[in-house]
Amino acid sequence: MAINLRTPQAETRDQRLGTITQWQGSARQLAQDSTFTYACGRDCGPGGRRLCELSSPYSQASMCAEQIAVTNATIIKDTVVIQHSPIGCASSQSFTSRYSRDLAARRGWKPEDPKSICTNLSEQDMVFGGVDRLAQTIREAYARHHPRVIFVATSCATGIIGDDVDGTARQLEEEIGIPVVALHCEGFKSRHWSSGWDVIEHGILRRLVPNRPTEKRGDLINVIHLGGPDVFSPLLNPIGLKVNLVMGGNSLERLADLSTAAATVTMCFVLSYLATGLEQEYGVPEIRAPLPYGLDATDAWLRDIARLTQREHLVEAVIAAERERIAPELKRLRGLLAGKRGFVAAGAAFAHGLIADLRELGITVDDAFSFHHDPTTDSGDAEQDSLGHLVQSTGDVPNFTVSPDQHFQAHAAILRAKPDFVICRHSGSMAILAGRMGIPVLPIFYSNDGLGYEGLITIGRAILRVLPRRRFYAQIAEHSRFPYQDWWLNETDPYALSAEAAE
Ligand code: SF4
Repeated sequence: MAINLRTPQAETRDQRLGTITQWQGSARQLAQDSTFTYACGRDCGPGGRRLCELSSPYSQASMCAEQIAVTNATIIKDTVVIQHSPIGCASSQSFTSRYSRDLAARRGWKPEDPKSICTNLSEQDMVFGGVDRLAQTIREAYARHHPRVIFVATSCATGIIGDDVDGTARQLEEEIGIPVVALHCEGFKSRHWSSGWDVIEHGILRRLVPNRPTEKRGDLINVIHLGGPDVFSPLLNPIGLKVNLVMGGNSLERLADLSTAAATVTMCFVLSYLATGLEQEYGVPEIRAPLPYGLDATDAWLRDIARLTQREHLVEAVIAAERERIAPELKRLRGLLAGKRGFVAAGAAFAHGLIADLRELGITVDDAFSFHHDPTTDSGDAEQDSLGHLVQSTGDVPNFTVSPDQHFQAHAAILRAKPDFVICRHSGSMAILAGRMGIPVLPIFYSNDGLGYEGLITIGRAILRVLPRRRFYAQIAEHSRFPYQDWWLNETDPYALSAEAAE
């Protein structure tokens, strides 16, 4: 399926990939029901692209695609982001500001306040339109900050009133002489926030990657990641590759280099839109090997990179040296962690990777909570079927729940699992929930932590740090109250309400 860069709007992943947000069963069943294998076979969509999903009669607050697009645009250097929205959408900027400063500290950059401005739409604008206010804000942003690029992010409100954001961006681009890139990320357009990744990657591909790269660099590999420290250079430098680390904080120069690279690798297939677009538009091949979580997967991933960049003669020595280097510590960690029960809560491919890591460490994982599920990827290549690969290489996950970070469902899923610890993304929500339930929790903010050979050691040591805190969490639980009635507090089926609604 081709990515359409001719239109300013990225097709949502719900439409492109048949993404679902509500499902429950075994991981094996979900992998089988997804496109790569049999499709669901229940006559619910052409070509089996659509999985049958559950429907919950109740919903709690969550994220939206606008937040993902805006955050990831804001942390691109020398840019200003304008949120064309009511002020409430801009509340996410407190997170972006913290994230930006943390990234700067970890990557050795000068910490700066991210530059974003909200048009603060009022009722008046909702009636008469907000394009004048948008034009005025773009001029003000340019005068104040002299950016090299301005992004304009849409919102539910501007989608509803139909403001001509593309026309205004074009007009102001001519006036001020720098790219003004519209990001169409109305929160209501997609049921899952990860569509926001596609929106920012669509904007980068359309406007910030040069159409005709002046040179091709055989030693450069694009690494698209969710953000965090560079754990890739130590793995890829020994086979003679330089890393162009993009997303999660970029310079415009790094983005301009994307089309010159020898290959692109994506550290989470949720971000694969950019990699597939680079292959489609610029002929930069996308590495499709399963993600490097666990020893065998990391070996295979490195071999695939070496094959595509003609470095096969270097890779075996690197694999052998890395395995040997971590072997004693891995053995120690396995000895200490054997028999522990872990509960994984994270987004799609990243959740699959964490499960693989835990199992490599000898931890039992029978329960997982994935924030969404993509039955396919933009390349449509079965090699990128991370759930199928997980089941095939490490076995089934009997209780696999898909839920868009709904606390009431996570409460039931964790209660059912009775884990020794929870490992999760979304530290501000999932980690707090698990902690208040009295369970030691390891929040993973930067998803790079579990990657490659060293990732196993990092994760194993981190789990050992949280496991002894049981008494601390028991005390937290003693002083915590949930806003649910007793019958739900004892419920262990995350989709019990859906079953009731269907009766
Ligand atoms: S874009 Fe829509 S869903 Fe997202 S924060 Fe704004 S109003 Fe809410």
